[in-house]
Amino acid sequence: MATRKFVGAHVSAAGGVENAPMNAHKIGGSAFALFTKNQRQWVAKPLTKKSIDLFKERCERFSFKPEQILPHDSYLINLGHPEAEALEKSRTAFIDEIERCMQLGLDRLNFHPGSHLRTISEEECIAKIAESINLALDRTEGVIAVIENTAGQGSNLGWQFEQLAAMIDQVNDKSRVGVCLDTCHTFAAGYDLRTKEACEQTFGEFERIVGFQYLKGMHLNDSKGGLGSRKDRHHSLGEGEIGWDCFSYIMKDERFNGVPMVLETIDESIWPDEIQALYRLAAE
Ligand SMILES: [Zn+2]
Ligand SMILES: [Zn+2]
Repeated sequence: MATRKFVGAHVSAAGGVENAPMNAHKIGGSAFALFTKNQRQWVAKPLTKKSIDLFKERCERFSFKPEQILPHDSYLINLGHPEAEALEKSRTAFIDEIERCMQLGLDRLNFHPGSHLRTISEEECIAKIAESINLALDRTEGVIAVIENTAGQGSNLGWQFEQLAAMIDQVNDKSRVGVCLDTCHTFAAGYDLRTKEACEQTFGEFERIVGFQYLKGMHLNDSKGGLGSRKDRHHSLGEGEIGWDCFSYIMKDERFNGVPMVLETIDESIWPDEIQALYRLAAE
């Protein structure tokens, strides 16, 4: 496919990370996301040499370059945790996640920024998140820390573009920090995406406040929750409150070229159809 749009899904790495590129290829993806360890556990066994070699070999065989792959870190990590001990645990786990990406030859790691748990201010939490990123980048090489925007559920930060910009602002090495926009989260956070005009407005705001030079990935999801609902509930494309206009807009806009765009939609059985539908929109 000659398109410069990389589209795929967050595929399973059950049985080993080396299975992810195969799973991505099987559904017709030109991009994929994966967990490099169990996302619900703190500690994982190191990747074996065999796993690493096979992963690289299969990425090569199925033409997945690092810029088409968006690894996602563990859900347990909170880089803005108010308590010292818990923050330390998160920072250690985050560095381990980056190291796993380095071993796999990957160039970016997608993560949820963090939560203030209602015990510290937003500003303090953002400063802790940025400090966590700085510490991790100092100890690692070659991997971009990709902050995902959130739906703003609970006390999760990173739902307003200004918060993402504030985090980036406090990161020392700007060449190693980026953003992943999740369409469901964006919409649930109160940014309309239901029409071409609404997309123009929302992504124009993103450009002004954050900047497309920081866009390093997308999560393409429709939303069960309404505009501004602050609920993180994904839906299949076109089945939720957002609708196809948004995905059509993204597939036709060059600002989204060259970054991995992955589905986290709820019905895996239709991922091949969703991917083909997105390619058709890109080709129109
Ligand atoms: Zn997401
Ligand atoms: Zn989500």
